[in-house]
Amino acid sequence: MKVKKIPQRMCTGCGEMKPKKELIRVVKNKEEEVSIDLTGKKPGRGAYICKNAECLQKSFKSKRLERNLETTISEEIYNKLKEEIMNEG
Ligand SMILES: [Zn+2]
Repeated sequence: MKVKKIPQRMCTGCGEMKPKKELIRVVKNKEEEVSIDLTGKKPGRGAYICKNAECLQKSFKSKRLERNLETTISEEIYNKLKEEIMNEG
């Protein structure tokens, strides 16, 4: 009997592995545009953050999110993410 594994991703804030569902995906597309992917299906390079403001702040401050996406994240994107997280919570 095999236990089905839930796909897990690492939060760029706290560094913990969590089920994808519990994380917000941030994606960078071919045009180098960074956006929030609520469907988890947008094409591009993705990074994950827990749905809480603390992890978002951490991942932003440590630049781990930027390094993960290999791009710079503007204040605007950060604020958008924050809004999204607040709405979710
Ligand atoms: Zn986290």
